[in-house]
Amino acid sequence: MAQIISGKEVSQRVRERIKLEASELFEKTGKKPGLAVIIVGEDPASQVYVRNKAKGCEEVGFHSEVYRLPEDTKMEELLALIEKLNNDCNIHGILCQLPLPKHLDETEVILAINPNKDVDAFHPVNTGKIMIGNYSFLPCTPAGVMELIASTGVDVAGKECVVVGRSNIVGKPQAMLLLQKNGTVTICHSKTKNLKETTKRADILVVAVGRANFITGDMIKDGAIVVDVGINRNEEGKLVGDVHFESAEKVASYITPVPGGVGPMTITMLLQNTLTAAKEQIK
Ligand code: NDP
Repeated sequence: MAQIISGKEVSQRVRERIKLEASELFEKTGKKPGLAVIIVGEDPASQVYVRNKAKGCEEVGFHSEVYRLPEDTKMEELLALIEKLNNDCNIHGILCQLPLPKHLDETEVILAINPNKDVDAFHPVNTGKIMIGNYSFLPCTPAGVMELIASTGVDVAGKECVVVGRSNIVGKPQAMLLLQKNGTVTICHSKTKNLKETTKRADILVVAVGRANFITGDMIKDGAIVVDVGINRNEEGKLVGDVHFESAEKVASYITPVPGGVGPMTITMLLQNTLTAAKEQIK
């Protein structure tokens, strides 16, 4: 039976360290790391994420500002707010909660955020830096996954790592981070043939597809570490991952649950990026 990797516990440990470093920064400089979160419209899931981000900031002693803009906000208004925050020396990190309403161009918004304040690490300058391994910020979800893997004590070097999913937010940067830790990395996607053959080779399997219970125990190698990024609702409205937990835990050595696995780590890594940004900018 697999050991459960608790995202809540790992996240708590990392947040305690962040809180300590933030208070040391405050003692030295009189400044708190500052995060501005912009949300446009009323998407209920986004509202929850934004509330949790503000709560996370409070927990570790950061300054946070939340800008709630109406659904019909014009692109110029959103860009003007971003520009104001780019020039605000009390704000070290800016994020605009995605998805945006359809009439707003997400790419343009990402490009408008100063790369030094881009704590989501979505700006091409930051994604490029991740490619060459010389980064300030890591994308939050893949960075959280790496922390969870590290918490098992297993060294990624030389391991067969398989990432299922190739989104810009999760799959692609995840593969890069595993590669930087010297894993032998394969990325699978919707056109991959013989998915099971590939996933079954994985010593470390990271799944980010967005389909409930998509990876079942028979697709997993004995003793693998399985990290489930997926967040889905099943027919009963219950939160489930992309991995069929009951069959997978019989085969894996370590597995993350949903909820309580990757989810709690994502905001923690955002706080880490905000702290990094603050240290750089205050310097
Ligand atoms: P996307 O929809 O952007 O990407 C899904 C990926 O899965 C695509 O690359 C797609 O391939 C691939 N895929 C789809 N069907 C198959 C298939 N049959 N076989 C193999 N691969 C397939 O999703 P995201 O990466 O944004 O998110 C993935 C999941 O992770 C979602 O459930 C999301 O909610 C969750 N998530 C969780 C976070 C957290 O904090 N825990 C943060 C971000 C996301 P192709 O490219 O060929 O279409």
